[in-house]
Amino acid sequence: MFSRMLLWKRSVLRHGMTAAAVFVVGSILLPQPTVAQAPPPRATAPKTSQAPAKPKLVVLLVVDQMRGDYVDKFLPQWTGGLKRLVEEGAWFRDAAYPYAATETCVGHATISTGAFPATHGMVANAWWDRKEQKMVTCTADPDPNVKNIGYAGATPKGADTAWRMGVPSFAEELKFQTSGATRIVSFSLKARAAITMAGHKADAAIWFDGGSWVTSSAYGMQPFMEEQAKSHPAKADFGKTWALSLPASAYWYGEKTLGAVPPEGWDLIFPHSLRGKTGVGEPDSAFYEQWASSPYADTALTELAMKAVDALSLGKAAGTDFLAIGYSPVDYVGHEFGPRSREIQDILISLDKDLGNLFAHLDQKVGRGNYVVALSADHGVVPIPEDMQTTGADAGLLHLPELQERIEKVLEAFKYRKPTIARINGSDIYFAPGVYENLQHDRAAMQSVLDTALSQPGVAAVYRAEELRDRPARQSPTLRAFANSYFPGRSGDLFILPKPYWLLDGTPLGKPRSYGTGHGVPYNYDQHVPVLLMGFGIQPGQYFQPITPADIAPTFAALCGITLSSRDGHVLAEALKKPGEARSPSQSPRPKSSPASAPRTSP
Ligand SMILES: [Zn+2]
Repeated sequence: MFSRMLLWKRSVLRHGMTAAAVFVVGSILLPQPTVAQAPPPRATAPKTSQAPAKPKLVVLLVVDQMRGDYVDKFLPQWTGGLKRLVEEGAWFRDAAYPYAATETCVGHATISTGAFPATHGMVANAWWDRKEQKMVTCTADPDPNVKNIGYAGATPKGADTAWRMGVPSFAEELKFQTSGATRIVSFSLKARAAITMAGHKADAAIWFDGGSWVTSSAYGMQPFMEEQAKSHPAKADFGKTWALSLPASAYWYGEKTLGAVPPEGWDLIFPHSLRGKTGVGEPDSAFYEQWASSPYADTALTELAMKAVDALSLGKAAGTDFLAIGYSPVDYVGHEFGPRSREIQDILISLDKDLGNLFAHLDQKVGRGNYVVALSADHGVVPIPEDMQTTGADAGLLHLPELQERIEKVLEAFKYRKPTIARINGSDIYFAPGVYENLQHDRAAMQSVLDTALSQPGVAAVYRAEELRDRPARQSPTLRAFANSYFPGRSGDLFILPKPYWLLDGTPLGKPRSYGTGHGVPYNYDQHVPVLLMGFGIQPGQYFQPITPADIAPTFAALCGITLSSRDGHVLAEALKKPGEARSPSQSPRPKSSPASAPRTSP
């Protein structure tokens, strides 16, 4: 059983300021002086001539598995970049994915392209390839001329590119439509995040594999990265400890979450020591799993991004540059400890500080108001079932190997030859070649399969592929969600909708569960994520109309004056300054004495 829920964990092993500033509208026209740049002489500098027509840098931040409600819950404890995004930016409070496949590759591809999976084709982190009769990951590239390459002497396996992503990313379109002046740089711990955010071609798309930073021959190497990988290797964090940032009384939840499954070498309570499996000696695979589940990995990603800004002078050349960071650790922590944990609350406190440092760096190097930032997440997460059950709610594990056995058994009675199921991957059931085609003409057998699936504990509905084709417009919200992530050839034959708070679990019979909880279904806890925009051209405020993260790329496109291929997403026009607005005489630049123009120190 190749479980979608287990992919995140395997990938680790295998791939191995305070916000005192108040946003001032005029700062877009007249960038504030920073410590690095002398203030422009005001008397001789007409305001309009100072204004860049387009942002100098587009920054995309995707926090893996960050639920929308984390902002509402934890905002009062933030003092850095997350707080600044809310206070100086546009906060969309009802942003949610309108599709069922709420997974990492899917979410990042949706944010980067502005299209839904039914269009871009990234339907899961991995899916069953019917032709090859095997699982393929969303970034696996069979081209023998492509291979992954490593920094600091690493020799990674595999070959990963964006060739399965059916439309270009926003960044690629920007480069293509502006005579190639754009530089595209992306970082994440995960290939499926770094690659999908960058697109098919990039100046750098870098991820973490088995203790090293790696890329693909499709993207090429960067000298600054080689230097950073050698001077600041992840193993330099070996022996460090992740301790609570605030007094214990500041945390919402108890010190142990029921059903949590921490990385090997850790127990359920703080502090967590990064010493691998045995607690002594050299970095091992357990150490890298701990590191990826700790704030130290977020800090490493932030430092890489700042290094890229300096080394490539991002935001200082003729075109608009693109920088993306996929912050993976929140996802690892969420799978292990669940959303109701001190670990989640604490790692966000640390990420808030990292983002404060990042924005201070961009203010200094690119100029406040010269760059635009979007922060979102690729999906949310469901509470750990054992934890949820303590509320008295109906929650549990929908055990997929058991479902597979039941369906095999019922089809045996109809004289189908075993095995009839090739794979169950999350919600998607893939039948062996020819079986589903037969079932479509064998009403009694099909009905028995559907009845059997519906009788399994935790199943709310079963959908057939033919119900999802052509994106039905007038159907139930969950059917429509499955249709929005249906891609012929790649998606399954049948689709299982669990009941709310029931976790799809692919753990083989008789084995202990290797994770606490997961995501990947069309319920709001998996679909609802933050969308925050800040900087060039953005009208600060809180916005309550329902939007989707597919709206980020079209909004970037509008700010940069380019066109995307898909119209799945729409421009968040309400959060954009109109051309006349920014020039209003009532909106004057911030006086020099304001705290925001003072040199910043790291929060
Ligand atoms: Zn994810």
